[in-house]
Amino acid sequence: MGGTKKEEQCSLCECETCCKFIPESIALTFEGADYIKHFCSITCYEKWQLHRKTKGTANKDGPNMKQK
Ligand SMILES: [Zn+2]
Repeated sequence: MGGTKKEEQCSLCECETCCKFIPESIALTFEGADYIKHFCSITCYEKWQLHRKTKGTANKDGPNMKQK
């Protein structure tokens, strides 16, 4: 009842870092080659970027690391 017609088009997406669900309209998006990542805040985005970089250079440890 009532004359309020609401188009509820709030599609949620999941933050890549903290797995929180956020409305797509306020989410930060990062478009890769064939994927799109969503983030709830710039903090989560930066964390994800950092994590990615760390992963990419997993072979290089500290400068004084010696392998036996
Ligand atoms: Zn987040």
